[in-house]
Amino acid sequence: MHDKTLAQLSAGLASGEFSSVELTRHFLDRIQRLDATYNSFITVTGSEALAAASAADAKRANGNTVPPLCGVPIVHKDIFCTAGVRTSCASKMLDNFIPPYSATVVENFIDAGAVVLGKTNMDEFAMGSSNETSWYGPVHNPWDTDTVPGGSSGGSAAAVAARLTPAATASDTGGSIRQPAALCGISGLKPTYGRVSRWGMIAFASSLDQGGPLARTAEDLALMMNVMASFDPRDSTSLDLAVPDYTADLDASIEGLRIGIPKEYFDAGLNPKTAEAVQNAIRELEKLGATVHDISLPHSSLSVPAYYVIAPAEASANLSRFDGVRYGHRCENPADLHDLYMRSRAEGFGDEVKRRILVGTYCLSAGYYDAYYNKAQQVRRLIKQDFVNAFEQVDLILGPTCPNPAFAFGSKGDNPVAMYLEDIYTISTNLAGLPGMSIPCGFVDAKPVGLQIIGNYFDEARMLNLAHQFQQVTDWHERSPEGIA
Ligand code: GLN
Repeated sequence: MHDKTLAQLSAGLASGEFSSVELTRHFLDRIQRLDATYNSFITVTGSEALAAASAADAKRANGNTVPPLCGVPIVHKDIFCTAGVRTSCASKMLDNFIPPYSATVVENFIDAGAVVLGKTNMDEFAMGSSNETSWYGPVHNPWDTDTVPGGSSGGSAAAVAARLTPAATASDTGGSIRQPAALCGISGLKPTYGRVSRWGMIAFASSLDQGGPLARTAEDLALMMNVMASFDPRDSTSLDLAVPDYTADLDASIEGLRIGIPKEYFDAGLNPKTAEAVQNAIRELEKLGATVHDISLPHSSLSVPAYYVIAPAEASANLSRFDGVRYGHRCENPADLHDLYMRSRAEGFGDEVKRRILVGTYCLSAGYYDAYYNKAQQVRRLIKQDFVNAFEQVDLILGPTCPNPAFAFGSKGDNPVAMYLEDIYTISTNLAGLPGMSIPCGFVDAKPVGLQIIGNYFDEARMLNLAHQFQQVTDWHERSPEGIA
């Protein structure tokens, strides 16, 4: 059962091939047997999952028409608040935090009848590209357990790759859905900013954060998006726009679709073997009738520096709420209020989070605000304009998701900038608010690599269509790590 896609599991439940309780037991059993190797879960919600599965089975048994994901197991990244279930954001700061409410995304899945197996590991407060910053320890990549799964949604990605869940929710501030999808050989979609509600998703950098799905196929991402996307009056940046059926156009022909290839995405920093896999994928799409055009995104190289001013600036403001008074960790025996703040934060946050708070506070301080923060916002506008210009010539933009396949633990530990450069091709879409996705397109040194698809605002259906068509003629997405299938 665990090798079936979400679409196949939904069909199997509908035809009575298996029940949701059987399916849920099967995945819970796999998690219990196998996750010690991967560490992809922070919390497993076995009894809640079985109760939801029985309820889903009862709904089907009564002959009701049920939504497609009714009774299908999924998992949530531990950044989404879940009422009554610990939501840690992989930080010691929130190790004891049990939210009194659920995120809109979580509620949407409850309404759809999905079964939640648990909460997945991640980089602390979603800051990282390797899942090494989690308070609960690193996640191991199922393709090679000596390497990282990518981050920050590494737990969600590893759990899907190891077939511990058919699909997962995740979040992407600078690449955290697409990069782990690429490194774990699965598919992931970061929607347009404002398409998926951020309400109840713990904030890292509010103008960049966006929730989205991870799964094995584009079709499954479409099924997930049908549930995740919604207008939410509780999120002031949520767009009041009808949610299309993302599965409706999957089978459309891509004949005549104009694909842009940015020359800046094939620079010296790109591993030549990754470049070859991406070029081969582009040739497959040409065979399906797409036309390929050279384009330029001239300000691409400024995306990492601009992001590492804007994201820490917003993070430093967002994380000021964790003061030991209102939420989470509080130090023992504080001498006075100041001591309470200082020690609670010093003890609760890890090194990378502290680094971001320091950088962000510095960039926002009087005297540096104009030099750094304002400048970065101006660069952000230039990056966005590059995309606006490109989408006058082409329908979709394609390139690599990441320069390299999964890397060894600790290999970038001493050099934060080397780690930050792993996101060089993903960050600019967050700065521009555009949707981006990653699908498996080959292997480099026996490790998976991803093809990135960038679309215009709210053009997720077209991206999913291209990805689905690619997955009809290739089988990269069907490969599984050794010993898993
Ligand atoms: N790796 C990037 C960072 O550390 C992006 C993380 C994310 O998308 N949440 O900020």
